[in-house]
Amino acid sequence: MKRFELDYYLNGLKAHDNVILARAITLVESKRKEDQEVANDLLDRIVETKQRSVRIGITGTPGVGKSSFIEGFGSYLIENGKRVAVLAIDPSSQKTGGSILGDKTRMELLSRNPKAYIRPSASGNTLGGVNNRTREAVLLCEAAGYDVIIIETVGVGQSETLVNNMVDFFLLMIQPGSGDDLQGIKKGIMEMAHGIVINKVDGDQAKLAKQSKKDLLSALHLFAASETGWSTQVELCSALEKIGFDSVWQMIESFEEVMTANGLFDQNRSNQNVSWFEERVQFGILTELADKAKLNTLQSELKSKVQQNKMSVTKATVEMLKVVKQQWV
Ligand code: GDP
Repeated sequence: MKRFELDYYLNGLKAHDNVILARAITLVESKRKEDQEVANDLLDRIVETKQRSVRIGITGTPGVGKSSFIEGFGSYLIENGKRVAVLAIDPSSQKTGGSILGDKTRMELLSRNPKAYIRPSASGNTLGGVNNRTREAVLLCEAAGYDVIIIETVGVGQSETLVNNMVDFFLLMIQPGSGDDLQGIKKGIMEMAHGIVINKVDGDQAKLAKQSKKDLLSALHLFAASETGWSTQVELCSALEKIGFDSVWQMIESFEEVMTANGLFDQNRSNQNVSWFEERVQFGILTELADKAKLNTLQSELKSKVQQNKMSVTKATVEMLKVVKQQWV
């Protein structure tokens, strides 16, 4: 990777340059020490960007229409004066090294729009979250003037929880279905969602969709009322026929209004920052420990002394922790 100075990235982001934004995201994903140093300075410089943005997470089973929706909804938002960035968390890339999201030609129209930025699949992601650079990518997109950030994930494993921890609004997309289909939706995800969008409400699906909405709303009533003052909404849409984007956006805007008025919008972001910090510190400590050859050697020596009764366990523990502390304090 070609290396650039910090100012190159800072100026590029300020100028809303998509090429430089892409390079900045690649930089923060890089595992090379020299890159990480510039990346850390960059992230530290943009931390106080006062860009008002909304971060939206979208999940739903493959085929439900997420990318069609984002393509249409993103264009709708741009027509309404927004700039839209789309990031994807793709659990498949971990196992296969490839990517189901990246291989498809997706969101072609949106990707050609200069007011949109699409990153199909961030490399180096681990699903567990600690090594994931999506949070940094969000900050970089915001520094580059994007005011709507969409994070898409395929509903597999832990990815919903991961995404929920980095967005303001979490949207679950489903298709019109019978009561039985709706029961298949994981309860935890229903509870997590701030909004549920029933997509593919076109052709002869309209009647079924209305019934699904009713069933969903009554299922949602069974959950304990949220303390936030927001209750999960259900909206209908057709990504194909571009119907319903306005009501989905209205839902997100009213969520923002409610959460801003009660102070929870900013509080949620602050809490997310703190958990992110704690997660990284824990990961860092474990990595450091695993890396320290000196500690490993000492540990083997002490183990063998303890084994042969040449040293007490108490003394060996004290010796070990003394060196651990020296490494860090
Ligand atoms: P994803 O895997 O969730 O991203 O789903 P895609 O956006 O790739 O859509 C899967 C299939 O559903 C494609 O064949 C789309 O054309 C189709 N599709 C998406 N949205 C709609 C819709 O609103 N109505 C109908 N009838 N088909 C749709």
